[in-house]
Amino acid sequence: CPARVSTVMEMLETEGLLGRCVRVEVEILLKEYVELMKSSQKMTEDELKTLADKYDSVFLHPEFFTCACLAVGSVLQLVDKVMTSQLRNGFSVSRPPGHHAHADKMNGYCMFNHLAIAARYAQKQHGVKRVLIVDWDVHHGQGIQYIFEEDPSVLYFSVHRYEDGSFWPHLKESDSSSVGSGAGQGYNINLPWNKIGMEDGDYVTAFQQLLLPVAYEFQPQLVLVAAGFDSVIGDPKGEMRVSPQCFSILTHMLKGVAQGRLVLALEGGYNLQSIAEGVCASVSSLLGDPCPHLISPGAPSESALKSISKTISALYPFWKSLQTHKYFCFLRFLNVLCAEVKASSLITGLVYDQRMMLHHNMWDG
Ligand SMILES: [Zn+2]
Repeated sequence: CPARVSTVMEMLETEGLLGRCVRVEVEILLKEYVELMKSSQKMTEDELKTLADKYDSVFLHPEFFTCACLAVGSVLQLVDKVMTSQLRNGFSVSRPPGHHAHADKMNGYCMFNHLAIAARYAQKQHGVKRVLIVDWDVHHGQGIQYIFEEDPSVLYFSVHRYEDGSFWPHLKESDSSSVGSGAGQGYNINLPWNKIGMEDGDYVTAFQQLLLPVAYEFQPQLVLVAAGFDSVIGDPKGEMRVSPQCFSILTHMLKGVAQGRLVLALEGGYNLQSIAEGVCASVSSLLGDPCPHLISPGAPSESALKSISKTISALYPFWKSLQTHKYFCFLRFLNVLCAEVKASSLITGLVYDQRMMLHHNMWDG
């Protein structure tokens, strides 16, 4: 939907962010494409429909192939610029999205998995040994998971709506028990939300207590982000309640990893205003603006804490940073926190901050 791109670009302009960015014009960099996808450019409407019907949740258009190539090309160019220090970081505002695409088939409006391609490209072209892919789109990027499942050189972290498998893509492998296989065991981290309405405190806690400790231990040389904004307040599909400002904080946190080599690529989102606000918040952080105050950070919800502790229990055998005070210690802390939050009629940012500090110290010890 071209309106996503135009709405985002208009708000970046209005907010005065666009003029501060370096614009990178897109070239088609990939020469080899799956011939079937290439042939879709010349198909009739009926042929396109027949082809699309072979996949899960796919729409095809004669221009789709070209757009998908441009989307991949834009991410690869940003990787080039960031890895050669021409740019500090970057955001690719492009369509279609990519994180559902498998190596050999379309899925969920995605033709090519541009972040997976970008990770491999960075490894081959720039000698990058370890890539972290963070996926904050509200859907699980199962395509990325499948591609790197057995690969310890790419750490994939996805936080997504799951509801015990009732939310698309309805896969049991989107649950926290999927930690990768073979040599890739421990390098796939799924944080499934089992309730809707997750807020800033839930996402900030997930990043602070789960993602960042592992990311620092993994020491990636490049961070790629599947930046969907369907978890922002007002998105009709995601039904979460994350503020756009929260994405400034999350982006800021990731800037401390991989010497700030960070490339974000637009993924999903079904509310144009929410997408544009989320992108602006992220770009503002990439440009070095101070993080905004969260209007109502609140405490993490009980359901979120359960999900986080379940994921830690699946992952702690693989990461020293998760073993320092053992999973049961974390769980005990969470139980105390939940009890205190329940007991308090007024949940303030101060209470939340104190708890986070306490917890942080526990981790350090
Ligand atoms: Zn999505």
